[in-house]
Amino acid sequence: MRVVVLTGAGISAESGIRTFRGSDGLWEGHHIEDVASPDGFRRDPDTVYRFYNDRRRQLLQPEIQPNAAHLALARLEEKLGDDFLLVTQNIDDLHKRAGSLRLLPMHGELRRARCSACLGLPDWDGDFDEKTKCPACGKSGHLRPHVVWFGEMPLYMEDIYTALAQCEVFAAIGTSGNVYPAAGFVDVARRQAGARSFELNLEKSLVHNAFEEGRYGKATEIVPKWVDDIL
Ligand code: NAD
Repeated sequence: MRVVVLTGAGISAESGIRTFRGSDGLWEGHHIEDVASPDGFRRDPDTVYRFYNDRRRQLLQPEIQPNAAHLALARLEEKLGDDFLLVTQNIDDLHKRAGSLRLLPMHGELRRARCSACLGLPDWDGDFDEKTKCPACGKSGHLRPHVVWFGEMPLYMEDIYTALAQCEVFAAIGTSGNVYPAAGFVDVARRQAGARSFELNLEKSLVHNAFEEGRYGKATEIVPKWVDDIL
């Protein structure tokens, strides 16, 4: 059974990382367009560097750990092996820490920097800013967070669409259906592969009508149960 799972910020909410769109449309107190767009970065790079440095420091706090939903998906992968693919919109590394290996972080990774001079993607656990030198090429002024912002092309799209076109089961977990192309993956899986489709979320997403089945509740409760059911 070939399975593709897409996750969003909701799967990490119970680990203590805030989602994008609470009731106020802010991410950790910031307007999304200020901290997650190339324009925002051009206007005020210091705020953007500081924002991602803060997120990275928060992610590395000892109390932030993978939860039962992350672990359940790692268990599903253990059973399915190469027939499983996890695509995440999250920039945290909680899937990786839960043991997921076949994992494509389509919106980048908080614990990496990107150098526009040498195109390196160095691992990064501390702070960095405009003045920081790239450890690979030694140039400063070229590092930015390795995060895909609004208006930029998500990563791994070819691999993702290939897997969607061949899957028998597609599930979207903890995602609001606001952000494309991810919100359209369900249509590709159904149309091109005839996949069974599941939405698992706290509440109905914007695109819930596109799914055959919806299960609503906290990820730590509904995801382990769904994994048991499909296995
Ligand atoms: P979103 O914030 O737009 O939506 C989160 C969804 O999760 C909502 O529909 C909400 O109802 C649901 N949810 C909240 N708590 C839940 C819980 N305990 N169990 C199950 N569902 C729950 O997130 P999104 O759709 O992933 O938006 C995409 C963008 O958010 C991505 O670009 C991503 O990079 C960014 N983001 C990532 C993180 C992270 O890495 N953890 C955090 C915030 C934002």
